[in-house]
Amino acid sequence: MSSPIFTLNNGVKIPAIGLGTWQSKPEEVTAAVEYAIKDAGYRHIDCAWAYGNEQAVGEGIRRSGVPREEIFVTSKLWGTYHSKVEQALDESLSRLGLDYLDLYLIHWPIHLNPNGNDPVFPKRPDGTRDILVDWPLSKTWEQMEAVLAKGKVKAIGVSNFSQKKLEEILPTAKVVPAVDQLELHLYNPQHELVSYLKSKDIVPQAYSPLGSTGSPLLSDETASALAQKYELNTADVLLGYLVAKGIVALPKSVTTARIMANYKGAIAAAQKLTEEDIKVLDGVAPGGKQKRFIMPPWGVDLGFDNWA
Ligand code: NDP
Repeated sequence: MSSPIFTLNNGVKIPAIGLGTWQSKPEEVTAAVEYAIKDAGYRHIDCAWAYGNEQAVGEGIRRSGVPREEIFVTSKLWGTYHSKVEQALDESLSRLGLDYLDLYLIHWPIHLNPNGNDPVFPKRPDGTRDILVDWPLSKTWEQMEAVLAKGKVKAIGVSNFSQKKLEEILPTAKVVPAVDQLELHLYNPQHELVSYLKSKDIVPQAYSPLGSTGSPLLSDETASALAQKYELNTADVLLGYLVAKGIVALPKSVTTARIMANYKGAIAAAQKLTEEDIKVLDGVAPGGKQKRFIMPPWGVDLGFDNWA
């Protein structure tokens, strides 16, 4: 059984289920990635410069023994690199030990001071995040287009971009982002933004599909009832729900049994869930369960209220 495949707006194919690697320690992620590819069947790995584990992820990819061209690898541009995209990409490629990425994303629509007091999370003397608020995101996007044109990546996209942020780059973009990676799950389905992305032919990718650390969404009663009905795990329903809606799901695990179960279960659930089930799941958050699990403090620093 292999993952459904979606097609990006430039024709590149992307497996609809990918392994997340945030908070996976370098000493555990090599084995997790190797197992995911070699034993469980994953062909899509999601990582980022900021996770600090690209070298270990790359080692896992190599140890799997599966040819590079059969695996879809994503990494992300960190905020301190918005003015030096190619340099950041080269660092990611070198750490991963790869000569191209399948997908490169702007991690957040936030340019952090590259000359600040910390290379990852620079802060001003008053303790707030050192953000270059006047930086136009279109300048970052131009550089993303340049690395795509050079062939160093097969597709480019964004992450954590609301409609408002996308509209800051779309008027001058030569290339429409292929994906927007967002916090998308049962309790934060972002129905309006997902519809907007589909209208622009941008594939939504779901991060934290289980509710992130400790998988809190597994205790949801509606998802659990559907899992019981179809003799699946609740995680399967949470993941299959997204895939059935045309959203790429990126569950993270470093536990072999879960890595295997998430992959097989997501595929099975995406096939079994009916339109009626999807409608019921779509109504869970609007029905009073709306909740985000990932809230970095830059929204507060910028006075933003639209992390939708
Ligand atoms: P997830 O929703 O994938 O949840 C991960 C947690 O669930 C871990 O604690 C994991 O534990 C546990 N888990 C996984 N499978 C199961 C299971 N079947 N049963 C019980 N527990 C389970 O959270 P993430 O926040 O990690 O999101 C997924 C990926 O999305 C990230 O790893 C990253 O690649 C990406 N991401 C991107 C962001 C962005 O800004 N673009 C932000 C956040 C995430 P264990 O590992 O111990 O098994």
